[in-house]
Amino acid sequence: MDDAVARLQVLSTQMSLERGEEHCFVTGKDYTFSSKANAPTTELYPDKTGGCGSQDIFVHPAVLPNGQRIKLLKTLLSSACERDCYYCPFRAGRDTRRATFQPEEFARLFVMLAQKGIAEGMFLSSGMIGGGIRTQDKLLDTADILRNKLSFHGYLHLKIMPGAERAQVERAMHLADRVSVNLEAPNTARLAKLAPHKEFIEELLQPLKWVDEIRRTQPGHRGWNGHWPSSVTQFVAGGACESDLELLTATDYLYRHLGLRRAYFSSFNPIPNTPLENQPPTPPIREHRLYQASFLLRDYGFNLEELPFEADGQLPVQSDPKQAWAHVNLAERPVEVNRAERHELLRVPGIGLKGAEAILRSRRQAKLRDLSALRALGILVGRAAPFLLLDGKRAAYQPILF
Ligand code: SF4
Repeated sequence: MDDAVARLQVLSTQMSLERGEEHCFVTGKDYTFSSKANAPTTELYPDKTGGCGSQDIFVHPAVLPNGQRIKLLKTLLSSACERDCYYCPFRAGRDTRRATFQPEEFARLFVMLAQKGIAEGMFLSSGMIGGGIRTQDKLLDTADILRNKLSFHGYLHLKIMPGAERAQVERAMHLADRVSVNLEAPNTARLAKLAPHKEFIEELLQPLKWVDEIRRTQPGHRGWNGHWPSSVTQFVAGGACESDLELLTATDYLYRHLGLRRAYFSSFNPIPNTPLENQPPTPPIREHRLYQASFLLRDYGFNLEELPFEADGQLPVQSDPKQAWAHVNLAERPVEVNRAERHELLRVPGIGLKGAEAILRSRRQAKLRDLSALRALGILVGRAAPFLLLDGKRAAYQPILF
């Protein structure tokens, strides 16, 4: 058992530190926490004497869509890999420590950690050995043992491997709360610059299409816990010199046509001893702007064409995309708070999904006449005021200059 814990320590550390916090797993809005709270923590695995050994296992604080807070273990079944993706610390031939589990051994270890309260849910991925189908079978066998042999009912996010078969995707959907396929790049040409042996359409996009098709054509009660899992993907932002327009075009397609819950953007960070080690890292502000723009597409009724792309297809980094849109479109045509429809309120910077609902609820009781009333509803009046009318009048707002 000590050897198994040591291997898990290697894998959870590699996933948390070497590969990067958001590289191949889920954090973010569906799992909302501040960046500080989002930092992985280590849990000490107790040694045989009942004390605490030195074998730390990384777990991540996570908030599930239902609001439940859990300790999430993000790990690989194996960090050995036969592929050679240019950006990845686990690429074949790179000198790094490798560790591997067999499904039953890993499932039993995880359940033991769950029983000790060290981890409550898991994101499980793997390096590829013997092809995508064989690797997917190992992930599925692990999930099957967890669910059906060891009665683990907690949160499980399963990775779909490149090249997995349709039946495997369906089996994953019977076992997991969430499934993911990492597209990494927005299209075939860009993927070739990151992962020369992955096929964008056949190996990566197709499984996401199957997930959507199964959700649409089969009753939800067949899924784990009576409903189908959500699906997510991740892009390595800046890794393939792609533009924001390319990334958000792919994101928009996934939201509109494949029912994706969320696209994650992970800023490219060069890894030593990989072909991209000399490529500059992507500034975190770009990742932030991509998230803001993707939420406008997903939740705020924006079309791709409305986003403020510059001539080179990049979003401006100096202002958030909703603010930039409002300056052009709302500065001379402000929104009347007491009459605007929900979709119009959502266009105003500083008014989010909850804020729009709060305004609609509140004005049924009484007209909203000043900014303090909006502030009390959670509206960021400093951002919203320049684009609002309150009962026909421009909101009197003095911006703080110094
Ligand atoms: S398939 Fe590519 S991204 Fe995945 S572990 Fe192997 S080298 Fe890394």
